[in-house]
Amino acid sequence: MTTAYRGRFAPSPTGPLHFGSLVAAVASYLDAKHNDGIWLLRMEDLDVPRTMPGAADDILETLAAFGIMSDEPVIYQSQRTSDYEIALQRLQDMNAAYPCCCTRREVLDSALHGIEGPVYLGTCRNGILHDREGRAWRVRTHDEPIDFDDMLQGHVSQRLESVVGDFVIKRADNLFAYQLAVVIDDAEQGITRVVRGADLLQSTPRQLHLQRLLGLPSPVYMHLPIAVNAQGEKLSKQTLARPAEKSPLTMFKVLLFLRQQPPDHLRSAGMENMLAWAIENWRPERLSGCMQFQS
Ligand code: GLU
Repeated sequence: MTTAYRGRFAPSPTGPLHFGSLVAAVASYLDAKHNDGIWLLRMEDLDVPRTMPGAADDILETLAAFGIMSDEPVIYQSQRTSDYEIALQRLQDMNAAYPCCCTRREVLDSALHGIEGPVYLGTCRNGILHDREGRAWRVRTHDEPIDFDDMLQGHVSQRLESVVGDFVIKRADNLFAYQLAVVIDDAEQGITRVVRGADLLQSTPRQLHLQRLLGLPSPVYMHLPIAVNAQGEKLSKQTLARPAEKSPLTMFKVLLFLRQQPPDHLRSAGMENMLAWAIENWRPERLSGCMQFQS
């Protein structure tokens, strides 16, 4: 028996939904519905200082205007801290996690640069420096390659210890890190396929590593090209991306962006018909090997 498809969209409510996040929402939804799957929504509102009041509701409303709704109640990461605490405890019990006293400055000053900032060189791996206090929790990594086959980006192999180092799972400000929360929640929601932006492709081996340590199943991954502006920067709040306009034309542009070749007459066919066409005709393979497109 094959496991029933369960997919999700997991926005961080740091502002209104912009075109780039709408692309990920629509693609994950189309992929789920084309495969007769369940589609879920999860608010990644863990980073309280970055969360914008009202943004979560605004995102839900915007998606609903496009006819996109979660098949089960929406999960909020801010309410799931006890599950992350249990996972951290398990990692501590198996000596896979350790406290770290290094400041951001000290880590930055280390010479090696990895795929996302400095590689942590393991200063606190064998115990905290004398006179110092643990601030964050890190998970131990190893240098065996972690491999997976992405449905669009092909084979990915990463030696975590060399290119990332032991990474933070609970931050010095006491907030759980995205990498741990996403793994716990994907497992909790029984996610079988993750469809999201290619900016997270290089995070996936960290998530596979945590899944393996915690004995959790790994979903299949599909990393979509991300939307960039004329300067090649990812559309985001930082690059002042505008909120997505709730109109059928926006949905048409999303389908064009996703290289779905929507026929011209769909422009004026109404949101419902457009979505039905897109589910029926979903061809993600048209995005194979594409990491970004200008929007
Ligand atoms: N919350 C993340 C973001 O908005 C996405 C996480 C994920 O899909 O794994 O970029």
